Amino acid sequence: MQYSFPVNRTTNPKQKPDPNNLVFGATFSDHMFEMSYNTEKGWHDGKIVPYAPLVLDPSVAVLHYAQAMFEGLKAYRAEDGRVLLFRPEKNAERTNVTNERMCIPEIDETLMVEAIKKIVETDQDWIPEAEGTSLYIRPFIIATDTYLGLRPSQTFKFYIILSPVGDYYKGGLSPTKILVEDKYVRAVVGGTGFAKVGGNYAASVKSLEEANKKGYSQVLWLDGVERKYVEEIGTSNAFFQIDGEIVTSPLTGTILPGITRDSVILLLKHWGIKITEKRFTIQDVYDAHAAGKLGEVFATGTAAVISPVGELCWKDQIITINNNEIGEISRKLYDAITGIQRGKIKDEFGWTVEV
Ligand SMILES: *Cc1c(COP(=O)(O)O)cnc(C)c1O
Repeated sequence: MQYSFPVNRTTNPKQKPDPNNLVFGATFSDHMFEMSYNTEKGWHDGKIVPYAPLVLDPSVAVLHYAQAMFEGLKAYRAEDGRVLLFRPEKNAERTNVTNERMCIPEIDETLMVEAIKKIVETDQDWIPEAEGTSLYIRPFIIATDTYLGLRPSQTFKFYIILSPVGDYYKGGLSPTKILVEDKYVRAVVGGTGFAKVGGNYAASVKSLEEANKKGYSQVLWLDGVERKYVEEIGTSNAFFQIDGEIVTSPLTGTILPGITRDSVILLLKHWGIKITEKRFTIQDVYDAHAAGKLGEVFATGTAAVISPVGELCWKDQIITINNNEIGEISRKLYDAITGIQRGKIKDEFGWTVEV
């Protein structure tokens, strides 16, 4: 099936931001993708339009009951000029997993990838070229029924917006300080932890605010029932090197199935480094540290790719990890993934998709 989306170009292009001072998610390109859903036509009328504020009836369901979802990925400009996406079909696949949980109608995954390509192609002069920069792509869906009763909406809008972004950490990789959250929880089995939805974030900003006040950049989430199993770090997945083996929490419904997480697992296996998906506790981490068996700790996600952890604080006990230095595996993973994303090293896995 062929997909073609009409393009209504802006007559008023914006000034591009200074490529050396890009703030994550603060400026947006000239156009956006828009598509509608209703029960008669299904998803229809996909098109590129000038980036502009939305006009919404104040009663729309998303504003009251948060029936919505989002995705996140990036486009990169390779040295040879090609525009590359990283595993966009995984974002489309995850969209439908989220949609199913949120009573949002399924989207044709090929259509979604084609829509991403079309908006990136339209605004490709917004892809910054400096080392470490990229164009962040934010697809999202909102429920638009004008009705205050609680029921699954029957109308939706799907959008894709684009934001030029710089290196997540100025100057590249650097270890972060993470607070282990023991007061608030993010997800429980049966909830929406595996779905990429704003509601999970709305419930977590309070925790982040308190951690920031104490000088920590993110929180490490423990399981919502026993408050002892390690789950995720902020908006990324978490990996720990314990006694030589790398461990990460399994996908049991409370953890977001990160595409970077999946890529890290595949790379580690490819390199013959032992990686196990299993439940482990924060006490296991502290015990390993006390026994001198805790190696590297790092978080993974689209925004920062690999983010090494230099310090953990759990119930006022502070531990320093890997001498607060970037670990060998963190560095190797960062170089491999960013290298593939930018077309600098051979993509043996077929992860990149040219726009
Ligand atoms: C998006 C997200 C991640 C990371 O997923 P990637 O696909 O690697 O970007 C991890 N945890 C949460 C809660 C997320 O929302």
